[in-house]
Amino acid sequence: MAIAFNNSYARLPERFFASVRPLQSPSPALIQVNEPLAADLGIDAEWLMSPAGLDVLSGRTIAEGSEPIAQAYAGHQFGNFQPQLGDGRAVLLGEVIDRDGRRRDIQLKGAGITPFSRSGDGRAALGPVLREYLVSEYMAALGIPTTRALAAVTTGDAVMREEILPGAMLTRVASSHIRVGTFQFFAARGDVEGLRLLADHVIERHYPAAKSGENPYRTLLDAVIAAQAVLVARWLQVGFIHGVMNTDNMSVAGETIDYGPCAFMDHYDPATVFSSIDRAGRYAYANQARIALWNLTRFAETLLPLIDAQQEAAVEQAQTALSGFAPAFEGAYFGRFAEKIGLTEKDPDDRALIDDLLKRMEENQVDFTLLFRHLGQAVSGDDEPARSLFVDPTAFDGWAGEWRARLAQDGREAGERRAAMDRVNPAFIPRNHQVEAMIAAAVQREDFAPFHRMLDVLSRPYDDQPDAAALAEPPQPHERIAATFCGT
Ligand code: AMP
Ligand code: MG
Repeated sequence: MAIAFNNSYARLPERFFASVRPLQSPSPALIQVNEPLAADLGIDAEWLMSPAGLDVLSGRTIAEGSEPIAQAYAGHQFGNFQPQLGDGRAVLLGEVIDRDGRRRDIQLKGAGITPFSRSGDGRAALGPVLREYLVSEYMAALGIPTTRALAAVTTGDAVMREEILPGAMLTRVASSHIRVGTFQFFAARGDVEGLRLLADHVIERHYPAAKSGENPYRTLLDAVIAAQAVLVARWLQVGFIHGVMNTDNMSVAGETIDYGPCAFMDHYDPATVFSSIDRAGRYAYANQARIALWNLTRFAETLLPLIDAQQEAAVEQAQTALSGFAPAFEGAYFGRFAEKIGLTEKDPDDRALIDDLLKRMEENQVDFTLLFRHLGQAVSGDDEPARSLFVDPTAFDGWAGEWRARLAQDGREAGERRAAMDRVNPAFIPRNHQVEAMIAAAVQREDFAPFHRMLDVLSRPYDDQPDAAALAEPPQPHERIAATFCGT
C-alpha cells in the first residue's frame, strides 16, 4: 500500500458519516507536496509527486485501503445552532499511524459534493487552498497546534464564486477532524449512545490518560478546555485571528482547524476583524478567548448525560470544569507574553507591565510582530527600532524604564536573553497584504513563485532572513487589506 491506511472512524456506526466518492479532477496539476510531512506519515514523497500520487491527491483514484467518508456534524454558526452540517466539501480518505505512533487523518478538501453539501458545490477555489496551506504550515513552524497541509493541487475545473476561479484541492492532515460540532450532532438528536461512542473514540485517540480517571468524561472535558485555553493564548501571542470560530470549526484535539478568512494583524488593535462575513466583530482578535469559552460551554452541555446521570450533579461538574478555563488561559497568555518581553521568572506584577505595553501599542498603532522582535534589539542596547514604531516614541520610553527595572531583577546576560526572545518572537508572519498578493499572482497569472517563496521563508519564522526583509514589512497605508473572504 502506498499509504498505509488504518481507519478507525469508518468503524463507528453508520450514522456518524456518509460513504462518498471524491470528485475526479479533470486535469489536475501539482502545486506543492509537503515532503517532510509525507515522511512523518510514512508516505513516499516521490510516489506522492508521481502521476499515481497526483491521481490520489486530486480524487481521480481511491488509494488502496482508503475508505472515503464525509463526517456528520452540527454546530453553532455565529451563535445560531445548525443541527445538520457535516463535511460538505471534504472527504476523509482514511487514517494512518505516523512515525511517532500517532493516528492522523488524511482528508481531501474541495473534493466535491456529499450528502452534507446543502446548497454548496463541494468545491474549493485556489485562493483559499493556498491560504490554508501557507498559514497552517506557518502555524506548525511556530509550534502552534494545527492541522497540516500535505499537498495542494489545481483541479483543472472552474469554480463559480463572485467570479469564476480556478478550482483546487487541499490534502489536509489532522490528529482528527472531530469538532465540538460533532458532539453537538448527537446531543441535538438525543443520541446518548452515539455521544458515548464518540467520547470513547476521542478519549482513546486524544486523551488516553482520561480512561483511568474516576470520571473519564469529566476528565475529557477538562482536557479539551485546557487544550483550547492554551491554543487561543498562542494565537493571541502572534496576532492570529481565526475569523470563524464557530463550534463546528473547533477541534476537540486542540488544533487550529478550518482556516477560512483568517489573518494576522499588523498594528496592534484588539478590535481587529478581517473576515467579510463577521460584520458584528463576534470573532475579533480580543474576543477569541471569550468565544472559546462560549464554544466549550456548548461542548460541556453535550457531555452532561455522560458526566453524571443526575443532571444537577452533571451541571455542577461541568461548571467546575469550565471555571478552569480562565486560569488556564491567563496562565498561558501572560506566561508566554512574559517570555516575549524577555522574562524567565514569572511574577504576578508582570501582568500589569504586559498590559501597559499593549495599551501603549494600541494607542500608537504599533506593529505587533515587529515590536516584539525589536525588543530583542532593545535588550542588546538599541531602542531605536522599537521606539520608532510608536507614533509618539516617548510612549515607548515611558514603558521601557519600568521594563528595564524589571529585567534587572531577572538575572540573565543580555545575549542569552535576546536569543531566548528571538525564539518566541517571530520575525515573519504571513502578512495579509502579501498573502493576498500571492493569491492574486497564482489566480491571475498562474504564477506560484510568490507562494513557494513565502512558504520557504515562513517555514523558518524565528530566523532573521535578511534577503527576505521585504516579507517582514508591514503594509503601507494603501496596501492594507480591510477584509478577507471565505471563498466558500
Ligand atoms: P466552513 O465555513 O468552511 O467551516 O463550512 C461550514 C459548513 O459549510 C460545513 O458544513 C462545510 O462543509 C460547508 N461548506 C462550506 N463550503 C462549502 C461548499 N463549497 N460546498 C458545500 N459545502 C460547503
Ligand atoms: Mg468548517
